[in-house]
Amino acid sequence: MVFALIAACLPIEWPHPLIGPEREAALVLSGGAVAAAFGLALALRGWVIRTVRRDPLRRYEAARAYNRWRRVLFFVNLAVAAACVLAFGWGWRVQSELLIFWDGEARLLPFAELAVPLPYFVLLVGGWLVYYDAERALHRVLHLGERPFWSRSAYLLYNLRQFALMVMLPVLLWVAQQALGRYLPDITRTLVYKLGSLAVVPGLILLMPLLMKPLLGLRPMPPGPVRDRFVALARRLEFRCADFLLWPTHGAIANAFITGLLPRVRYVVFTDRILDDLPPDELDAVFGHEVGHARHGHIWLYAGFLALSLSVLAALVLFVEQVIETGTSEEVGRLREALKGFKTWAALPPVVLVTAYLFVVFGALSRWCERQADLFGCRAMSCADPTCTGHDEKTVYATGGRCLCPTGIRTFARALDRVRDLNGLDADEGGRHRLGRAARAVWGWLRAWQHGPMSRRIAYLSDLATRPHDERRFQRRLFALKWVLMLSLLAALVVLGQAVGWRALLEVL
Ligand SMILES: [Zn+2]
Ligand SMILES: [Zn+2]
Repeated sequence: MVFALIAACLPIEWPHPLIGPEREAALVLSGGAVAAAFGLALALRGWVIRTVRRDPLRRYEAARAYNRWRRVLFFVNLAVAAACVLAFGWGWRVQSELLIFWDGEARLLPFAELAVPLPYFVLLVGGWLVYYDAERALHRVLHLGERPFWSRSAYLLYNLRQFALMVMLPVLLWVAQQALGRYLPDITRTLVYKLGSLAVVPGLILLMPLLMKPLLGLRPMPPGPVRDRFVALARRLEFRCADFLLWPTHGAIANAFITGLLPRVRYVVFTDRILDDLPPDELDAVFGHEVGHARHGHIWLYAGFLALSLSVLAALVLFVEQVIETGTSEEVGRLREALKGFKTWAALPPVVLVTAYLFVVFGALSRWCERQADLFGCRAMSCADPTCTGHDEKTVYATGGRCLCPTGIRTFARALDRVRDLNGLDADEGGRHRLGRAARAVWGWLRAWQHGPMSRRIAYLSDLATRPHDERRFQRRLFALKWVLMLSLLAALVVLGQAVGWRALLEVL
């Protein structure tokens, strides 16, 4: 999502509409497409509300169909927004009208790029407003009186906050940099600015926890038995953090996460649902997983990996550009001629490259690290007996997560299983049509891109409980993988840096 929006905000000359008169056509075609997609959302809402009102017994069927169609409509919205920009002339109209005279020439207004993906924003916020009623109707029949559904404004704010933090923050930084480049090009050419903008990403990663607290509305976890247990467990696992936070989601998600590189600005965050619905030992296991991320240095690893990878990719793009521009062979000359007509699209391939790279390589790294964190979650709940058959009140748990026992593994696997049920993940596996099954499998992977599907994680742990020695092999392999990955990136950076020239590389970073 972030990269799709960044691509929309690139300085590409978006094409004119397919038909004329152009200004009117851009508005009518784009408006019509957005209205049609909005109509589909309204139809889905109407169907859900009518179905559960007429026959509450069909509530599970209605919930499944709702989830499936919302997924489909998510992609429909993306396709509509892409069509508006690429075929209906919306991007062109924005770029030809939101202009101002500056220094004797017409320039795009600061932040006007954000109007290019406007059709998507309209559909997104419109969707929140429309789906609220469907979700409230489903909530009423699925959780009879258990938990009141939230108000429309609270629901809107909850969705808006997540979108602002995860999607808009990086997009805004990108657009701000483009605005500076347009209006104050002299400043953006200075070395101080270059180094400063390079420092923004690590700085942001470092300060993310402080930003996240107000943006997501996180609160310190209230004093009580749960908090006391976390404090005790943190001490046993030799883990330090600034605070334990509660994320109020009105029971929408059962999840936990850790954020922050340094103990002083590091938080472990739990949603209300996971605190309410998980038994104490499973909650401890989940906490153990988050501690595992910190103990194994995953957040540092990710930060280092991202910094190195982006530098290598920038160097690679620069290298290809230099070859195409200065190459003397006949093939390169022909390529140069062929590319002449596509000059304005030149900014797009690097964004596609970064997206694909992060999806494949970072996705794989992240899935390995998640498994390592899972194993630490098992260790957090383990005793010193590698053949134990169960735990009771007298069990002495190992300190620092140094031991692994079958009961610890089973406790953690049970926690994963419950989180999967609470979130309704993997719920609609199978299906009648081969195509439907394939689409769901692809979607499952897309959604589980960072963690791997729940069922796989649980299956791995169930296997491990019968032969805990396999864990060593996994740890050895991951250790080797991390080093090979980081050293190859470093080697690639040195080779490419020498080839393109370090000064030129710093210019494009
Ligand atoms: Zn994790
Ligand atoms: Zn044990």
